[in-house]
Amino acid sequence: MSSRCEVVIGLEVHVELHTRTKAYCSCPNEFGSEPNTNVCPVCMGLPGVLPVLNQTVLEYAIRTGLAFNCEIASFSKFDRKNYYYPDLPKNYQISQYDLPLCRNGYLDIEVDGVTRRIGITRVHMEEDAGKLVHGAAGTDYSLVDTNRCGVPLLEIVSEPDLRTPEEARAYLEKLKAILEYIDVSDCKMEEGSLRCDANISVRPEGSTVLNPKSEVKNMNSFRAVQHALAGEADRLCIILEEGGQFLLETRAWDEAAGVTVQMRIKEEASDYRYFPDPDLVPLVISPDQVEQVRSALPELPSARRQRFMADYGLPSYDAGILTGSRALADFYEACVGAYHDSKTVSNWVMGEFLRLLKVHNQDVPEARLTPSHLVEMLNLIDQGTISGKIAKAVFEEMFVSGRRPREIVEAGGLAQISDAGALSAVVQQVLDGNPGVVDDYRSGKEKALAFLVGQVMKATRGQANPQLVNKLIREKTQHS
Ligand SMILES: [Zn+2]
Repeated sequence: MSSRCEVVIGLEVHVELHTRTKAYCSCPNEFGSEPNTNVCPVCMGLPGVLPVLNQTVLEYAIRTGLAFNCEIASFSKFDRKNYYYPDLPKNYQISQYDLPLCRNGYLDIEVDGVTRRIGITRVHMEEDAGKLVHGAAGTDYSLVDTNRCGVPLLEIVSEPDLRTPEEARAYLEKLKAILEYIDVSDCKMEEGSLRCDANISVRPEGSTVLNPKSEVKNMNSFRAVQHALAGEADRLCIILEEGGQFLLETRAWDEAAGVTVQMRIKEEASDYRYFPDPDLVPLVISPDQVEQVRSALPELPSARRQRFMADYGLPSYDAGILTGSRALADFYEACVGAYHDSKTVSNWVMGEFLRLLKVHNQDVPEARLTPSHLVEMLNLIDQGTISGKIAKAVFEEMFVSGRRPREIVEAGGLAQISDAGALSAVVQQVLDGNPGVVDDYRSGKEKALAFLVGQVMKATRGQANPQLVNKLIREKTQHS
């Protein structure tokens, strides 16, 4: 029997920084503007212009490097990466080649309760290219939109330390969470502000050889990354088993077909003819400058998770989910700032809130339900105005309409029935309708009581106060 096929994955992530202006000129850095309106001679690469580095780009790049535990180089420079493409009017991209700003970092990920440290080779600054808008099927033209030319990008390159598609996904989720926490990008995969390419190769388990790798592109969601890598791993493992030849190639993920397809045999770095950009001065970064950025770093997900466990007494699992995105953690903290029971809040946020966000395909900031809605609803439960069961319906209604819980309860007549007079008749009806169960209960079967209470709850559409129903049934059956 042949040995197991080991998968080796490294990820390259490009993230657009949400600075106000572009990387080397003062054009607005805006998504969705009319095509070719956010441009100037610098980002169009016209002769005689001089790019000047946006200082916010540098600050964000240092912040990102520190958040990923990198060394920040005291000396760094920009290089030209030369290639021709219709949406790149300069015919080169300003990037960083042999002296990147940040190196030797790491990111800890957790999969199935196991923590693994994934190396980050480098984080460097570069600029985005424009966009080609292809004509509809049957047409023979493409349009060029240069608005994105010169938008600042960071490229974050991992070591080939990932071993499964699940780890790759966990890495990306953690990476995105950190980028959101440090507020350098809006990380919208659907708008292209966070993009991922994956390098994947296979080898017999135990071997340290690195076989030629496939670069997989065109993955537009974390789910797509996981699926594409699983598909490509299977394909490569079959080649390994059959003793076939590996190619250094670029493959595109075809979401609809569920397979990767070859795009081209990969270029080598030497094909790009990198050379230092003569228009931009090298960067000299002082330790003071780095310390300044470090001291202003916000709390990162892992620290916030620890604090949630310490301050709110949450289990590690809850704390991990709640701090998985900055927006969700902020939502949770706004709730517990106004409500005493942190675990109850956690249950509602992790349960119903996350469930409904998923069903309605929304992110936390888009939700109409605010922390004050949830706190008001929890108070209504505590006051006995609504039951926990009714609360679920109220919660969903708040989520959809954004109305206040008190208003929903009043308008829907959902308040709990805590009036013995009103409940007495219903209880009597249930007892009369179930004489056998009543006899069981009288003879000591406690389970029978639960059934009777359930019947009353059903008859009142969940609105009866369960404690009161219990009390009434005991009284009426003279069972103590
Ligand atoms: Zn410009």
